[in-house]
Amino acid sequence: MGRKLLTEHINVEGIEKLDVYRKHGGYRSVEKALKTMTPDEVVEEVKKSGLRGRGGAGFPTGLKWSFLAKPEGVPRYLVCNADESEPGTFKDRELMSKLPHLLIEGMITGSYALGANTSYIYIRGELLYVLRILEKAIAEAYAAGFLGKNILGSGYDLDLFVHPGGGAYICGEETALLESLEGKRGNPRNKPPFPAVQGLYARPTVVNNVESIAAVPVIVNEGGDEYAKIGVGKSTGTKLFSACGHLNKPGIYEIELGLPVEEFIYSDEYCGGIWKGRDLKAVVAGGSSVPILPKELILKTATGEDRLMTYESLSDGGFITGTMLGSGGFIAMDETTNIVRNTWSFSRFYHHESCGQCSPCREGTGWLEKVLHRLVHGHGQMHDIDLLVSVAKQIEGNTICPLGEAAAWPVAAAVRHFRDEFEWHVTHPQEATKPGAVFPGK
Ligand code: SF4
Repeated sequence: MGRKLLTEHINVEGIEKLDVYRKHGGYRSVEKALKTMTPDEVVEEVKKSGLRGRGGAGFPTGLKWSFLAKPEGVPRYLVCNADESEPGTFKDRELMSKLPHLLIEGMITGSYALGANTSYIYIRGELLYVLRILEKAIAEAYAAGFLGKNILGSGYDLDLFVHPGGGAYICGEETALLESLEGKRGNPRNKPPFPAVQGLYARPTVVNNVESIAAVPVIVNEGGDEYAKIGVGKSTGTKLFSACGHLNKPGIYEIELGLPVEEFIYSDEYCGGIWKGRDLKAVVAGGSSVPILPKELILKTATGEDRLMTYESLSDGGFITGTMLGSGGFIAMDETTNIVRNTWSFSRFYHHESCGQCSPCREGTGWLEKVLHRLVHGHGQMHDIDLLVSVAKQIEGNTICPLGEAAAWPVAAAVRHFRDEFEWHVTHPQEATKPGAVFPGK
């Protein structure tokens, strides 16, 4: 049984209330940090922990914090990215709604470390009920002296606000989020300058995912070295995965990084195997923006080793062949899944969510959707299959933000791993377009 660093108390009755949360050790990290540590010491512990961003990119959190510019007399900000909108990913929603004080505690300790006196939680617009839970918890934290002026008599001040977005997926990209938080249309910015130098209101800003911030209290309480003992190599600590699709036990699981993918899928402690006694066909391991892998490659690497739930093991192969740990949205597909239709479904999402600023993404996502529509509806031609890969390659590396690649890579990966099925849609259009049609194999 793996350790649960974040979710140990998630099912305790009333844990969303401050008094219950405190009975289970809540807010210890605030007391420890503000009373016994300097801000730099907190940053150092986070660096030592090896914590990597849990939103998708996997960049080391402590390093990101150390990049924050600190010009004299200029305010700086910590912004929590709670705009969770990636298809297949629903872990942050659960954390915030059940353990709101864990996030608030992480925001206070993190803001102290960064020298921020005003911080924000930018939450996805559709999650208004979670926003209300957070606001209630923030009011409790103010009343108990954990927020506001002179927190716990330390001389440190912090105001914390929750801000709802309008429900656009692109606002999960950190610079689009900052634009939106400033009251503008959520268009990603060109980088540099990076937010660490010029972020919210052109001030130095750190943007971190909910789960990353929620890990800070554990790291401060236990120490960075202890945290780093969990996991494998540069994938330290625990990670939440939202498992969905054709599984016996879909849900949210906190695992120690390094767990074999096979164990995650088939053991009763986690997903309990594939539903209805069917066989596994493919997995998207980190949310819809990461490349799909067929069963053979998700369970074992190309060299025959067990594939592990780590940033490294889930990223071998690179463009088109590899996958990524991403945001932890683990989507399992059984043997009856129509991969072409599924790929079309994701491509519609990305075309719809493209902000339209750069041509390769604006036009390319449209072309991917159109060509896939043709194939799914029985009007495709053989050269359409290579056209998909060509469009995907022209998007890659030519856009302002990663949404373009999030749209392109999964399509290219689907063609690479399931080309026979794409060809079947061209050679057997009537059969392939029937509702519930299942590719019969080569
Ligand atoms: Fe907008 Fe797409 Fe360009 Fe990102 S890649 S800035 S979403 S057009």
